[in-house]
Amino acid sequence: MQSEKALNKTELLRLIPSVNALIQGETAQNLLDEIGANRLSDLARIVTNSLREEILESLKEDDFNFDSITRETLLEKAEASLETLWEKERSASLKKVINATGVAIHTNLGRAPLSGEAQEAMIKEASRYCTLEYDIETGERGKRGLRVEQLLSGLTGAEAALVVNNCAAAAILVLTALCKGGEAIVSRGELVEIGGDFRVPDLMKETGAHLVEVGTTNKTRVADYENAITENTKLITKVHTSNYRIVGFTSAPSISELSQVSKQNGVLLFEDAGSGALLDLSEFGLHDEPIIAESIAAGADVVTFSGDKLLGGTQAGMIVGRADVIAKIRKHPFYRALRTSKLIYAALEKTLEAFRRETAMKDIPILKMISLTEEELRKKSEDFAEQVRASLGKQTKLTIEIENGKSVIGGGSAPSVQPNTTLLSIRHLELSVNGLEKKLRSSRPAVIGRVLDEKVLLDLRTVSEKEESELAEILVELAS
Ligand SMILES: *Cc1c(COP(=O)(O)O)cnc(C)c1O
Repeated sequence: MQSEKALNKTELLRLIPSVNALIQGETAQNLLDEIGANRLSDLARIVTNSLREEILESLKEDDFNFDSITRETLLEKAEASLETLWEKERSASLKKVINATGVAIHTNLGRAPLSGEAQEAMIKEASRYCTLEYDIETGERGKRGLRVEQLLSGLTGAEAALVVNNCAAAAILVLTALCKGGEAIVSRGELVEIGGDFRVPDLMKETGAHLVEVGTTNKTRVADYENAITENTKLITKVHTSNYRIVGFTSAPSISELSQVSKQNGVLLFEDAGSGALLDLSEFGLHDEPIIAESIAAGADVVTFSGDKLLGGTQAGMIVGRADVIAKIRKHPFYRALRTSKLIYAALEKTLEAFRRETAMKDIPILKMISLTEEELRKKSEDFAEQVRASLGKQTKLTIEIENGKSVIGGGSAPSVQPNTTLLSIRHLELSVNGLEKKLRSSRPAVIGRVLDEKVLLDLRTVSEKEESELAEILVELAS
């Protein structure tokens, strides 16, 4: 068949496939089930419109060559654009990545990876019907989150516990339920901004708690709090300065000192511990994270902390404390709006069970990563490099070297802690550093590394054993 060509503009525009012709083509029909008919026609319209615009634009050129265009080439072009457009749209969906940055609690990459048990519980126990608010013994209505609350109380020594959507929600709920219309005293050294959209002063304003600032940026004394107490004071608030440290000439009262002040004056002591920790992690360099059980023992009436930082679970906000205080918070209407879901409870239960069994250091991925020693990391990296080099053979475009470096805890936890690590330094004969980084990022699963001093660096601290073999395959693929 003679392919159809155009001799002038009008004829040419007629050769552009109609939306319908594009949809009826094989390419679109193959994508139909995945995209759905409505979205497919939207995309087909976008493609044909932009093709028309593109042609109108190129017609403005004097030496436009009508000969190069046929109905078939235009259809092919439209089909290719349709595929690209859909690929782009689809790539915005949530996808697994290999985190080779060495930043353990990487907020942009979803913070803590879940333990195997937690993943399984989410899928197997909670993804369909489950006993969320059902007591299987009596056949009657049960209490949402009961097991997680019991575990949290047991692990922190608190009388009661409550779980909401995240730690920001926990702080909002605590401040609203306990301090609306009253005054909350906060040290000037703790008026922090966490992650750009969580600013303690702004948050307080919205909850109706009046912020009373005391002390200075670097020093706040017990007397500063005492002097600020009025008959309107409801809370003494201590906010953990998670993501920065003031070092040098500094001091701030401890929880137990503040607890004395609060008890003597009939006000409550609230600590926003941020990440907090259920275990003492100081042997891994994490000296400054509040240990929740210690805060409770020292007399904090209510403590909030995140579920997906050093706890190693899902996004959630834990609230633990005195029974009467937690009861008051639970009764506040905001609790209903901020409460969390069955999937989250399932994952948190298994995460907390590991702490209860005292196997958290090996079962919770975040804790396992943090506790990897320099020697273990060196061995892990050398074995990995060895294995990849063996598969690469002699004729390879990819080189892999070992060097020393630092990991980061991340997630606003322990900003001054940078444990030593071993890094894999990757180079490609035919790719620039940025080109290589991009290739890794566009592999499946995507590999996220670091670029430093003209090298792509991968830190296996944050790569699980299972992911190591995927990573090895991706590197071997890139070398060929
Ligand atoms: C991280 C953090 C928060 C916010 O926690 P999310 O669970 O991310 O909402 C609040 N306060 C402090 C001190 C933090 O470190």
